[in-house]
Amino acid sequence: MNFREYIRKVEPYVPGEQPQNSRVVKLNTNENPYPPSPEVLKAIEGVSLVSLKLYPDPDCTLLRHTLAAHFGVGDDQVFVGVGTDDVLATAFMTFFNSDRPILFPDISYAFYEVWANMLGIPFEKKPLTDDFRINADDYTGENGGIVFPNPNAPTSILEPVSFIEGILDRNRDSLVIIDEAYIDFGGESVIPLVNRYDNLLVTQTFSKSRSLAGMRIGFAVGSPELIGYMMSVRNSYNSYTMNRTALAAGVASVRDQEYFEKTRNAVIRTRQQAVLRLKEFGFSGPEPAGNFLFVTHEKMPAREIFTALKERGIYVRYFNKPRIGNYLRITVGTDEEMETLYEALGEILA
Ligand SMILES: *Cc1c(COP(=O)(O)O)cnc(C)c1O
Repeated sequence: MNFREYIRKVEPYVPGEQPQNSRVVKLNTNENPYPPSPEVLKAIEGVSLVSLKLYPDPDCTLLRHTLAAHFGVGDDQVFVGVGTDDVLATAFMTFFNSDRPILFPDISYAFYEVWANMLGIPFEKKPLTDDFRINADDYTGENGGIVFPNPNAPTSILEPVSFIEGILDRNRDSLVIIDEAYIDFGGESVIPLVNRYDNLLVTQTFSKSRSLAGMRIGFAVGSPELIGYMMSVRNSYNSYTMNRTALAAGVASVRDQEYFEKTRNAVIRTRQQAVLRLKEFGFSGPEPAGNFLFVTHEKMPAREIFTALKERGIYVRYFNKPRIGNYLRITVGTDEEMETLYEALGEILA
């Protein structure tokens, strides 16, 4: 025998390109174009050097309390982690242990399949309809759990609360995870449903609407029972996932509601303009509800547009995958960045 036979060999998630060059116009990984609240910087500066010699609070008490108060739930109903990716991985480990397949859409956040493969969780991908909608009828019958983003990614399509409720009603014996990474850009959260549905776990992130992708903060809201099980799993592999700086930054961000609304509304405004501008260029796509648009062009193949934009220092996301190979996912930038994009498209499509 050889150790190589026993290595866990996995197909990793491939993130969008992260050029470490600040001159590019970066519209490819759904980051927020605005900086975080200035209160976040003050909070980070308030973390004393000497405090860093001590382990952080393993219960993340203040951040959990701040989020719980914000959403009107109990402190014991909030789990925090190093980005939603950490929170979702913990949830997969905690809840998806049956022999039955978990269900998620064929066109969705690519990490679900990566985690399922890594953790040996059986799964079934349910095809979106031709217009990229989630078909609720696919999410019935015996299953090992359900997970999807709302709004979905990369389509930016939002489903109403009643749609999620329908899925929860039909799956009282399955755990349903709703990944609300983009809900703040115009959707209604299902967090208020967690006290009515003991099978619902909702996740959100500070990476998109709170401009803190670089800080890595995500959280989940559910019943005290679900959160308790997640905490036990987390404490079985790393009791100190959240560092002191991230904890302080997170609290400051949630407390500055005014700044949050200001920047979130600016992104929504720019997105609405982008829908009209891109239409004039011959693009079409679903009505976007996230901080990104999912569009296809009437004449020029997506891959060609992607390449031509990149040559001009403008990065958007292109997925070389079945069904969506002629689409681009374009993150909403500042108005200035979007003007640069339109100018380039004018040249490319001329
Ligand atoms: C960005 C994103 C996440 C994860 O975000 P983190 O940066 O890890 O908090 C989760 N789900 C979806 C659908 C996303 O787009």
